[in-house]
Amino acid sequence: MPTSGFFQVSCPNDHLVRVPAGLAEEELVCPQCSQRFVAHAADSLEAGEDRVERAARQWLWVAVATVVLLIVAGVGAFLAGMLS
Ligand SMILES: [Zn+2]
Repeated sequence: MPTSGFFQVSCPNDHLVRVPAGLAEEELVCPQCSQRFVAHAADSLEAGEDRVERAARQWLWVAVATVVLLIVAGVGAFLAGMLS
């Protein structure tokens, strides 16, 4: 969800329109082409950025988990070598 008082959506003709948060899910008229459209907050640029950030964080966790597994495997191999 947008944190500021505005979010940005594309009209059906791909004009970027700044929409006050209070007008989310309302029918608007694009100031550039007068096309009527509904401003879905979920379709906003900000919501898209949130999705990208979440995906990036997930990948970070996968990377961290992989490194931890490698370290554990390395320590395990080291200990196994010491014990044998
Ligand atoms: Zn437009």
